Amino acid sequence: HMCKQLQQAGHEVVVFDNLSRGHADAVSGLELFVGDLKNIDDIRQCLSQHDFDAVMHFAALAYVGESVTAAREYYNNNVAGSANLLQAMSEFGINKIVFSSTCATYGEPMETPITEGHRQLPVNPYGRTKMVVEGMLSDFAIADGLQSIALRYFNAAGCDPSGQLGERHFPETHLIPLVLIEALRIQQGGDPADTQLKVFGGDFSTPDGTCIRDYVHVNDLCQAHLLALERLILNKVSGAEAYNLGNGTGFSVLDVINTCRTVTGLPITYQIIERRPGDPGALVGSAALARSVLGWQPKHPDLNTIVATAWDWFTHSYRKN
Ligand code: UDP
Repeated sequence: HMCKQLQQAGHEVVVFDNLSRGHADAVSGLELFVGDLKNIDDIRQCLSQHDFDAVMHFAALAYVGESVTAAREYYNNNVAGSANLLQAMSEFGINKIVFSSTCATYGEPMETPITEGHRQLPVNPYGRTKMVVEGMLSDFAIADGLQSIALRYFNAAGCDPSGQLGERHFPETHLIPLVLIEALRIQQGGDPADTQLKVFGGDFSTPDGTCIRDYVHVNDLCQAHLLALERLILNKVSGAEAYNLGNGTGFSVLDVINTCRTVTGLPITYQIIERRPGDPGALVGSAALARSVLGWQPKHPDLNTIVATAWDWFTHSYRKN
């Protein structure tokens, strides 16, 4: 999604990916360097091939639940991999980076909506790995003059309205794709009573007892990255900046399922099971700073639209992949 927007904005893009979770065909037509951030020589080789202005760093393991059981892998990939990237960037004189951070760095919120000044006390290894990298960005700003923008995403969701790009995770763990995969099962004649859909916890202190999240459309996230990149290139960033990217509205798991029922017209059912380790009850963000400083204006803030774009992908393209 980001590469598409970068190209539309006239940028030249090189993709670096180990393809452990990504798909080469999603960036067909672009230069793809298959390498691993855990191997610094891969990064050096890639950076030596062009004169880069900036780096956008998305490459992370990003499943809260998995991070609890595979913590070592998360620290290796997310922390050691980022340290390698920053080391190689400095060797090649590249000092601008946009970093994918997360609302998971905040942990259990003390007040909502969460602003950037909220204390960061992550409650799972995923959030901790991202917070360590944010710390590196701040420290390297002082030590080496690194210029960075960390974007703290709330829940990335939706798909490109073209229907050509979408979420393709194997195994899938995210809520909206899983609800829509259940909808596909019913659409194909599956019995709604045999639901595969699990709701993790019905005993949170939220109005309906299920977790509340702030869903933000992937293309809106990309728009913020473009604005962040422009800000860096115009030398408006002197150190490490961080911005929340959310819509400021919370939806419970049951709200999401209801929206998916409306969008798909299918009788999706679910089963409530125990909580997933590492899940805070409610995460809703204020993106006032991103709006005022970056000029960010989300185009798809409405949950119905976010789900509709995802459903379009799932009905048209997902099954072919
Ligand atoms: N969730 C759920 N069932 C699922 C997957 C997710 O109830 O099969 C819940 C999860 O506990 C969280 C919310 O849906 O409260 C969003 O989870 P997701 O994994 O999509 O994103 P996260 O909040 O972990 O970044």
